Amino acid sequence: MNTNRRDFIKTTAVTAGMMGIGSIASACAAPAAAPKPELKLSFQESTPPGSNLNEKFDYMEKMGIVGFEPGGNGLAGRVNDIQQALRGRKIKVSAICAGFSGWLIAEDEAKRRECMETSKEIMAAGGELGSTGMILVPGFNGQQPSLQMPQAREVLIEQLKELGDFAVKHNTTLILEPLNRSEAWFLRLVADAAAIARDTETPGITCLGDFWHMTREEISDYGAFMSGGKYLRHIHIASRERRKMPGEDGAADNYVDGFRALKELNYQYYVSFECGTAGNREETVPAAVKLLREQWKKA
Ligand code: MG
Repeated sequence: MNTNRRDFIKTTAVTAGMMGIGSIASACAAPAAAPKPELKLSFQESTPPGSNLNEKFDYMEKMGIVGFEPGGNGLAGRVNDIQQALRGRKIKVSAICAGFSGWLIAEDEAKRRECMETSKEIMAAGGELGSTGMILVPGFNGQQPSLQMPQAREVLIEQLKELGDFAVKHNTTLILEPLNRSEAWFLRLVADAAAIARDTETPGITCLGDFWHMTREEISDYGAFMSGGKYLRHIHIASRERRKMPGEDGAADNYVDGFRALKELNYQYYVSFECGTAGNREETVPAAVKLLREQWKKA
């Protein structure tokens, strides 16, 4: 974001507050009683070294990683194992990464139904694990034939209402993830995901901001996260040119502006690694963690 735009948003917020119609910040921020935001880092299962969950969790605990993001595929059969491995640890399940089949904007109703049913099974398991939510992409470019706008959005929202109510019953949410255009034209902006979540009128639908996809699609990290506002439930992070560990792409890997938005939003959830590495994991993972903590302090 350039300085002019940042100043414009600040000025607009102040003016709106003075006019008694509520500021942008107060419209977006979590309730005042929420604790001060801190950088809660999370790893997907493939991020830490280790040959089993216990080895991976031992490694994560040594580094102060407090979130774990397992894949959703087969999750119902793993609930016990994951609960056992987490027992007595500070690590919690941050989010569940996809794992469903079918897709919600399919022309074929059977494919939409398949997505609903498999997503519910994963959300029920995620709820048992205390997950903040299950990540879902409404439709990838390769999933065809898909419905077109505006019907696609209307059909999606009807299904999300049902999924959102199901999520609430299971103490979790469904997290919509915008991707970049090479993967999914249908949903590319955090603001669009948040607007869809709003239109479902259920607290069970939330959204995600992924720095990797945002690099290509968003005007600014700050603006993107602010546009997610109270619907923002999870963050994915990677290096910004090759989707490796943060820091592996050098100066391009600057997350300060996005972190500043998370602080202003009083964001209470996780920032989760979704990336590979071009180097030695034993070196690149700790270096990435160190970099992100430094940048969080600067934000
Ligand atoms: Mg992602």
